[in-house]
Amino acid sequence: MKIFKIIKMMVGLSPNCEKVNLFLADYVDGTLDDKTRKDFEEHMDMCKCCRPYLNQYKSTIEMAHECDDVKVPSELVEHTMAFLRRNSDFPRS
Ligand SMILES: [Zn+2]
Repeated sequence: MKIFKIIKMMVGLSPNCEKVNLFLADYVDGTLDDKTRKDFEEHMDMCKCCRPYLNQYKSTIEMAHECDDVKVPSELVEHTMAFLRRNSDFPRS
């Protein structure tokens, strides 16, 4: 999934978040097994970093479904980068 790789590149997450985010695409697709999905949802409940990220990911996927050759809107990139600057020590380039 091309767009997922792009988003992941923009995001510097903690190791725990990183692990959870490996399952993000499968979670949204509904293909996770019960235990993994429960762990995932528990983390999403606790983590103020991942929750908005999941929501943003979902809306991005919805956009991607509407268009085969989707480009990441600059608005989304800016929003994501602003979010990361506020909420993490994501290195600025
Ligand atoms: Zn997290």
